[in-house]
Amino acid sequence: MNKYYDLFIIGGGINGAGIARDASGRGLSVYLAEKGKIGSATSSWSSKLIHGGLRYLENYNFKLVRESLKEREVIINIAPTITKTLPFIIPYTKKLRSKLLIRLGLFLYDNLGGKSNMPKSSKINLNKKYSKILNQKFSFGFQYYDVQVDDKKLVEMNIDDAKKLGATIIEDRKVINALRIDDGWKIILDNNEIIKSKILINAAGPWINEVVNNVIKINANKSIRLVKGSHIIINKLYEEEVAFTLQNDDNRIIFVIPYKKKYSLIGTTEVDVKTADNPSISIEEKIYLIKTINDHFVKQISIEDIVETYSGIRPLIEDYNETSKVTRDYVLDLNLQNKKSPLLNIYGGKLTTYRKLSEKVMEELNPYLPLKNTKNWTHSKIL
Ligand SMILES: Cc1cc2nc3c(=O)[nH]c(=O)nc-3n(C[C@H](O)[C@H](O)[C@H](O)COP(=O)(O)OP(=O)(O)OC[C@H]3O[C@@H](n4cnc5c(N)ncnc54)[C@H](O)[C@@H]3O)c2cc1C
Repeated sequence: MNKYYDLFIIGGGINGAGIARDASGRGLSVYLAEKGKIGSATSSWSSKLIHGGLRYLENYNFKLVRESLKEREVIINIAPTITKTLPFIIPYTKKLRSKLLIRLGLFLYDNLGGKSNMPKSSKINLNKKYSKILNQKFSFGFQYYDVQVDDKKLVEMNIDDAKKLGATIIEDRKVINALRIDDGWKIILDNNEIIKSKILINAAGPWINEVVNNVIKINANKSIRLVKGSHIIINKLYEEEVAFTLQNDDNRIIFVIPYKKKYSLIGTTEVDVKTADNPSISIEEKIYLIKTINDHFVKQISIEDIVETYSGIRPLIEDYNETSKVTRDYVLDLNLQNKKSPLLNIYGGKLTTYRKLSEKVMEELNPYLPLKNTKNWTHSKIL
């Protein structure tokens, strides 16, 4: 007789991988199917930061920033080989956010996450230290710290652990159909293989509503906005191991981050799109990022300096309170039929919060599972 899994996970991005690891470590039987390669979609197209999200404070999203800052501490400890703490510099400009606002934001950023080994933020003289790099008009700025991560590796490490803990992980297998049966799910893969499971988790990232509508064939009750974010990579703009948080005239933030020893990673843009498939940078986005660099740095660049680009799609959930506002937070949407056959749709999220999200998934599913180990464990176990 075919095996009846406890959990079937659609999608091998950071969220699917984190859930697979957490659940397998609790003694659950897990099957994860990924239509491409593990971690090859949104989770490797990010800005590669484990960060609290300083700019979310402007939207009063204190809960998300607090959770993210706490998670930053955890991820540094459980993934020391793929994380690196970096100083970030915000050049001050009179035209945009006031000194007071930035100081207040950084004070919260230093303290919201509780106890931390991260150095505290400070005001710095830019003329003294970065006069050869930054445009003379920036005489001072503010320095704070965040963490750079190898995002794809983070997914792969979670998957490796999940496999060691007994999970079945399949690449290059698209889930094409999922049907509710008596007390669970019948899942059909694109090679016609059938897998049965008690619970179905939809961790398809920006394809979430496509899976809800076309694979599970129920009505999606959450509205998401697909927002493309693009990065450009150029030969490094400067030698120092420091990142810059640039404030643009349109109030958006652009990061310049040292990347793979030889390069600078610059991003991101925000452009609404209709599909999550094959995202790529437009000429307008390239020009926007180049202009931001040229407005801030001594060295001037042009399109010819771009070595590589990549784009990813954020599936942003419309905020419940303000429809015009979207949040970077995540929502777990539990769907039952006659109190049976649970489906958990995972909306939104960040790399930074994947581990906490996975714990919350376990908590949410607890009533429907024969959990052998309900104790949270991933915060203290090195990947
Ligand atoms: C431009 C950009 C920058 C970002 N920067 C940061 C950052 O610096 N820090 C941070 O914390 N977060 C960042 N994020 C957010 C973060 O990258 C995402 O929240 C996270 O990667 C989403 O992971 P996921 O597992 O939900 O989605 P994905 O990584 O997209 O994984 C979903 C997977 O599901 C698979 N799938 C879809 N349909 C099917 C199907 N039918 N069958 C099988 N498999 C299927 C897909 O192939 C895909 O691999 C950024 C996002 C973007 C777009």
